[in-house]
Amino acid sequence: MNEFAQQLLTWYLTNQRHLPWRENKNPYYVWISEIMLQQTQVTTVIPYFLSFIHQFPDVESLAHADEAVLMKAWEGLGYYSRARNLQAAAKQIVCDYQGKLPKCRTELLKLKGIGPYTASAIASIAFDEITAAIDGNAFRVFSRVKMEASDIGESKSRLIFEKIGDTLISRTSPGDFNQAIMDLGAQLCTPKQPVCEYCPVAKLCLSYQYGVQLEFPKKAKKIKKKDVYLLADLVINEEGKFLFEQRSKSGVLKDMWTFPLTEVTQQVYQERKSTALLEVKHVFTHLNWYILLQIPPEVVRESSKAARWLALDDLSSYPIPKVQHKLLQGLSSDIRKNQ
Ligand code: SF4
Repeated sequence: MNEFAQQLLTWYLTNQRHLPWRENKNPYYVWISEIMLQQTQVTTVIPYFLSFIHQFPDVESLAHADEAVLMKAWEGLGYYSRARNLQAAAKQIVCDYQGKLPKCRTELLKLKGIGPYTASAIASIAFDEITAAIDGNAFRVFSRVKMEASDIGESKSRLIFEKIGDTLISRTSPGDFNQAIMDLGAQLCTPKQPVCEYCPVAKLCLSYQYGVQLEFPKKAKKIKKKDVYLLADLVINEEGKFLFEQRSKSGVLKDMWTFPLTEVTQQVYQERKSTALLEVKHVFTHLNWYILLQIPPEVVRESSKAARWLALDDLSSYPIPKVQHKLLQGLSSDIRKNQ
């Protein structure tokens, strides 16, 4: 066994948290507890877990539970879709797996509500599969130990951390290893005040050696997107051509051609909604555009703006942004509906 796993498991033997779902390796209990622990603290989960498995002791009883009774049992835990997914998965297990949870990560991933972390947690804890379970604790511990700077907010980073975990994991006790990482993250390698002096893997931890523990894990700050409200004018001449305008040389969609757009306040936008032809939302990295396509009360454009009458066939020769295509598609499906 590698030194990291060895030190960690020795520590886990005497420091593990004693939790009801850890008393045996019942796959059903492991599954229920892992789902309950998503978004919910351990101390809150314990009484819910105990009464849940009392009420629904196995996959079969969960699959056949009355939905209202199930929701009542879940009341207070929040995120009710978790309970609905649990029941949907229980039905899948009854139908496709003779009422027994599948034993490998790949099959577990086919069940409703089971993602990569939960699949690895169940497969390793209940069935000894060698697969690292990467949750928030694992991201934190592994990023600090290896000074791994991948942004944990990006989905592609998961694979990098799974690889690190799969290299360090104990081949003989993968389930205990994963649970030990969870406990280390919860008890010592905490987000703001890691207690490195007592950490069993301190001498293998790069960020501790360099004194940069708090710089890991890396996560880019989420930029709050700005909402922009726009009116798009639908103006058609006698030849059936549309009025297009070229956007300015700076800013969003610079130099591209769209229907004439006017930014308005949210209040004006809401007022115009009832008379608009259609509404389109378009998401940029830093902006959300909400657009109402309208027939304008009057057409007055600034003379400095480049404006042109274009037929649909002309559009291939002009740079037309995706959002404008959305408006055109919306318009044509609207016309089809009304024919
Ligand atoms: Fe976390 Fe500190 Fe242990 Fe490194 S030494 S794993 S930073 S608690």
